[in-house]
Order: sequence, then structure tokens, then C-alpha cells
Amino acid sequence: MNIKKVDKIWMNGKLVGWDDAKIHVLSHVIHYGSSWFEGIRCYDTKRGPAIFRLDAHLRRLYDSTKIYRSPIPYTVAQFEEAIKETIRANKMKACYIRPVVYRGYGDVGVNPFSCPVDVMIAVWEWGAYLGGGALEKGIDVRVSSWHRPAPNTFPSMAKAGGNYLNSQLIKMEAILEGYAEGIALDAYGNVSEGSGENIFLVRDNTVYTPPLIAAILPGITRLSVMKIAEDLGYKVVEGPVPREMLCIADEVFFTGTAAEITPVRSIDKIQVGEGKPGPVTLHLQRAFFDIVQNANDKHNWLNFVYD
Ligand code: PMP
Repeated sequence: MNIKKVDKIWMNGKLVGWDDAKIHVLSHVIHYGSSWFEGIRCYDTKRGPAIFRLDAHLRRLYDSTKIYRSPIPYTVAQFEEAIKETIRANKMKACYIRPVVYRGYGDVGVNPFSCPVDVMIAVWEWGAYLGGGALEKGIDVRVSSWHRPAPNTFPSMAKAGGNYLNSQLIKMEAILEGYAEGIALDAYGNVSEGSGENIFLVRDNTVYTPPLIAAILPGITRLSVMKIAEDLGYKVVEGPVPREMLCIADEVFFTGTAAEITPVRSIDKIQVGEGKPGPVTLHLQRAFFDIVQNANDKHNWLNFVYD
């Protein structure tokens, strides 16, 4: 086991011991994947622990549960406070925050309506998601043989546990073939995203990223990077990206809460640009880390845990 235990996990309004945070095996979520979750980072800034874009993450969580007709039994303000309480109770500085809303124990049929909507919040320490050196050197990836879901199958705008079966197929295939990550195409063969990251391409100083209809998760880091890129004067194009753009891009990088801004140095063994993080990627990385580490927060994206 790699996860580093902390003291407490928040479950349905109470802080319980890490080892006591259990659910029944007949809970609906175990059988049918009925969960909605977030991955949020808390940074140890010079002004103390700060949660990056907590409001945007909570909005996406409430959106996910709305799509699935599973209303969260807490207000957004209560949820925000519960997250901070969990961080404080565990005396965390920098951490990863994982709230999960799930259909619990009640009935075992597919119909979820008689199962409670339960909530848990866990926090733990988590470093570079795509491996040591990934942020500095970049990673080698492949285009996955698995596609993202077709329209009107699994809603990609919901961050639902069940969607991550698709992500696991993408990730396992990549790892087993020696790559750090896979890039999935959408049902029409256009570029979608990584198994747990959004994707950006740079060509001639213009920054490209696929749109929501390309079956992507609407990433919070993606939106932030689009904003940062505009602030820095780059043209940002949100539009369909044909697969072959991956071969001819000057730079490619992933964005995500866990992955932050991770450069891609090769795709299917074709070198991206110079085979190392390019100038635009480095520029965006520097601006991003200046916000989250130095609390240089002109957009008010940081929510301080002890304010
Ligand atoms: N796509 C998928 C499938 C993801 O799991 C994630 C991680 N939440 C992202 C994109 C990036 O989203 P965010 O920047 O909000 O973490």
C-alpha cells in the first residue's frame, strides 16, 4: 500500500478514524459505480495552506450529482467548511483532497432512488502524479486504443466514478506498454484527453485544447491554464483537434489537479518539438506555480484554510 494514512476521514458529518471509515459491501456504489467525486489540491503557500479553486470544484461536484439526480444533502457552504475541517483535523499543509458523494446501503437493484446519498472527504499527501521528474522533463505517452464515451452514453461533464473504468483501460494499456499515460480520442477520432488529465497543444505560439463536446471532463486546471495563457498574451483556441495535430505540434502538455502542468515529450514514439518541455509550456508552468506556491493570486483562486 502506497497511501500515507492520516488521522481522520469525514463521513456523513462526522470525523472518524482512518481505519474506521468503512461502508457495507451491499452499498449501491460498489455494484453500479454510482459515485461522483472531486480531486482538489491544497498548496502550502507562504500565506498558509490554500485550496486551489475550491468553489469551481464544488460547483462541478454539485453539477455531477445534479446530472445523476442524486442531490447532496449539504449546502455548498457546509461542504466547504467540512473540507476545511478535515484538513485542519489532520494538520495538513499541502495535500490532495478527495470528496466522494455516493449511493450507499439501502437496496441492491439498479434503481438508486431508495439508497442514501452519502458523503465522505479524505485528505492525503500526494506528489507528482505522473512520476518523479515528469514536471521537469516531460513524459512519453501513446494514443490509446480505447476511446472516450460517445455522446449520450456516459456524460463526460459529470465526474462520476463509473467513468473511470474507461480511464483505467486507457491507463493500464499505456503502463503495460511502457508509457506514462494514454491520450484518448473521442467517438469520432478527434483528440479528447488523458485518462485523468486534459490536453493542450501549442503550434506557432497558439495554444489549442479540445472543446467540451470532445467528451472531456471540464477540467478546473484546463480553465485556469486557458486564462493564464490569455493573461500572458497567447491566442487560445478551444476547438476540435484532429489526431495528427499530435504529431506536428511544437509542444504538448497535460493539465489536471494531480498532473498540474505536465509536459509531453513524445507521442507514439514521435518526438514532440525538441523532445523536452517547450518555451510556452515552461512559461505557463512558471505562471501557474507562481499562483499556487507563491500565492501570487490575482484571480482570487486560492481559498485559505485558516482565514
Ligand atoms: N480529465 C479527467 C478524466 C480527469 O480525471 C481529470 C482530473 N480531475 C481532468 C481531466 C482534469 O481536471 P481538473 O483540472 O479539474 O483536475
